[in-house]
Amino acid sequence: MTHAELAQAAIIAKSNSYSPYSNFQVGAALLAKSGKVYTGCNIESAAYSPTNCAERTALFKAVSEGEREFSAIAVAGSPINGEPDYCFPCGVCRQMLKEFAQDNMEVVIVKAENDYKVLSLGELFPHSFGAGDLEPVFNNGMCRERANGVIYKEPPTTHTGSSLLGGGDAVDCVICALSAHQLIEHRFSV
Ligand SMILES: [Zn+2]
Repeated sequence: MTHAELAQAAIIAKSNSYSPYSNFQVGAALLAKSGKVYTGCNIESAAYSPTNCAERTALFKAVSEGEREFSAIAVAGSPINGEPDYCFPCGVCRQMLKEFAQDNMEVVIVKAENDYKVLSLGELFPHSFGAGDLEPVFNNGMCRERANGVIYKEPPTTHTGSSLLGGGDAVDCVICALSAHQLIEHRFSV
């Protein structure tokens, strides 16, 4: 899936926008690591606050289908009768993307199918709060470093302990990229 293909999917999704109050249409196309693309549009409400953004519509569709890992999202937005321009995700959507994606997730900001900017989620949402800031047991099955978006280029070879297991003198794992289950298994096998 190329950036241009993902951009095109976001532009098509924008045509389904339900935005009679803002008249601002947004479409999103979210690429899961499974290879499947989930699209979404903004959906507004006369009561305003129940309104949902295109990015979260796509994300919620994907998560409700069992997806948990994502590599890219394209976002296209424009006033209903206006010219498209680069449309960046709102703060709420950046926070929700962070919940399921790592800092290296690509965010494709689409003006047209062949005119877009590609940023990382980390660039769009620096110094953010996430699962890694909570107690390890809540880290979504990841060690603290992984939950904070640290990417390991080499497979883990050793680790010094588990930040997942908690407890007074647990040593933070500094190089582990294993899941909680794998880490616990590894610990018991040592
Ligand atoms: Zn949003």
